[in-house]
Amino acid sequence: MPVRNGLWLGVIVAMAALGVAAVTAVAAPQRDYTRLRSDMVEKQLRARDITDKNVLRAMGKVPRHEFVPASLRSQAYADRPLPIGEGQTISQPYIVALMTQVAKVKRGDKVLEIGTGSGYQAAILAELTPHVYTIEIVPSLAKRAQGTLKRLDYKTVKARIGDGYKGWREHAPFDAIVVTCAPDHIPQPLANQLAEGGRMVIPVGKQDALRGQQLLLVEKIGGKLKVTSIAPVLFVPMVREKGTQ
Ligand code: SAH
Repeated sequence: MPVRNGLWLGVIVAMAALGVAAVTAVAAPQRDYTRLRSDMVEKQLRARDITDKNVLRAMGKVPRHEFVPASLRSQAYADRPLPIGEGQTISQPYIVALMTQVAKVKRGDKVLEIGTGSGYQAAILAELTPHVYTIEIVPSLAKRAQGTLKRLDYKTVKARIGDGYKGWREHAPFDAIVVTCAPDHIPQPLANQLAEGGRMVIPVGKQDALRGQQLLLVEKIGGKLKVTSIAPVLFVPMVREKGTQ
């Protein structure tokens, strides 16, 4: 079947290209990453609806290639999510920028992130305020991200291993909460830990193709929650610690 053969050939050629790109990129000079990063900011962020100058500056500064596995560095600035191990992913750059813009983080704000993953979103937040707290449930990811953040001098980020559903009560209330894994409802502890006037950005819904998930902006105004739908999204599910519900 020529069509199928052609298709396979295409796949093999693409795989070979990917392999070559990955090998060359591991040794790519810093200036190549700088160019890839500024292209990302222009074509994926500014050309869409990312207008917040501080968010654009942070996205143009944080070395995303340092947060992805070495074999995927050549694709670090591509317009898509990438695997980071343990079945988890680093979000597409546009989604990181959109969530950060919607969270309206100002210098001095106290911010909580749920789902540290690679540490990339935490680094973006740390460019905006020195008060960043982040929680990851998978210990190996948490440890690697803590190492990456320290190596890149993001020393103000406070990270811990745990179930982010419960938030981080000792440091509440938070001016902004950014959730990067999807629960099927808004966790009550996170709503409780949001400051008056605070913003929570959270994907909510099941990981199923029919209903999908919605990225929500949850604001606390006069003690009440105001929920606005931002965009349909696809995040890894929020998992719970054993023995909790
Ligand atoms: N923000 C990350 C991407 C995160 S992917 C980055 O910038 O790279 C989502 C992460 O949420 C995964 O690492 C997953 O292990 C974590 N996660 C899932 N459920 C969680 C929970 N209950 N508490 C904390 N982290 C959780």
